[in-house]
Amino acid sequence: MSELRYNPVLREWIITATHRQERPLLPKKPGSCPFCVGAEEVPEPYEMVVLPNRFPSLHINPPAPEIESDEFYRVEEAKGICEVVLYSPEHNSTLSQQSIPHIAKLVSLLTERYKELGSKDYVKYVLFFENKGEIIGVTMHHPHGQIYAFPFIPPIIERELTSSREFFEKNKKCLHCEIIRKERSFKKRIVYENEIFVSFIPFYARWPYEVHIYPKQHLLSFLDFQDKEREKLAEVLKIVLVKYDNLFSFSFPYMMIIHQKPTDNNDYSYYHFHIEFYPPHRSKDKIKYLAGCESGAGTFINDTLAEEKAEELKNTPPFSPEDL
Ligand code: ZN
Ligand code: ZN
Ligand code: FE
Repeated sequence: MSELRYNPVLREWIITATHRQERPLLPKKPGSCPFCVGAEEVPEPYEMVVLPNRFPSLHINPPAPEIESDEFYRVEEAKGICEVVLYSPEHNSTLSQQSIPHIAKLVSLLTERYKELGSKDYVKYVLFFENKGEIIGVTMHHPHGQIYAFPFIPPIIERELTSSREFFEKNKKCLHCEIIRKERSFKKRIVYENEIFVSFIPFYARWPYEVHIYPKQHLLSFLDFQDKEREKLAEVLKIVLVKYDNLFSFSFPYMMIIHQKPTDNNDYSYYHFHIEFYPPHRSKDKIKYLAGCESGAGTFINDTLAEEKAEELKNTPPFSPEDL
């Protein structure tokens, strides 16, 4: 069963998705991975591929809600689309191990999906994200990301849009362009930059190793990218990801989220494309948990300084030992 229930207290939608309880957990037997070539869903060899999510939270043809909507408690159909993006046919690889041209191709593929899903009238927001690592609750090791085409703008994005719009109205400039300007002039929180993109741990980071990647130009979504932007984004992604893996010499878990303009056809010219990474590690063997203060009040306690963690990542080599 699946439906949207509105929380009038926090003003946000909750998706119920009880069928997801039956998801397979970390298939370990060789040949049991549904994302390896030869499995039912991917019978033919592929380089990278998009598949419908077999256990979607949102549905193209949603079931009727379990419970009736009333004026106070709103219920809606969980209409939307959930897809899985397989980065590579190699079961034991990661995004960080893909070549820069391969990652650039992935960016093109995501651009296509953003355009296609975003063009549907009921899709207000296309979210691309990756959960990596068992510690994040990943149920499938095969390297993959996910796409959720939402029938509403999710609350974190909504909050970013509101502050971006208000900042723009007041100052006649983009909030995010200003963040980029501040970070680049302060320098200490920059992790890596090339001619098109800059990556840094922002001043206000919630997580110790929270890297954000921004185009220096005011671009709103993947649709504003040319080949050059795709290549340079692939380069900065590769470098940040390899630094992450080299930091403690293990494959670094993270959540990666792409924030870009909504697809409901309104004007969002004040918004700015960016990628956010939330890695749960605060040190080699310590994890940051979302506990009472974070979960119950929305206030994060960061035990580290962004300036110091950025320095650490900046000094971590951006290449794999096999590249030497
Ligand atoms: Zn596999
Ligand atoms: Zn901007
Ligand atoms: Fe953001």
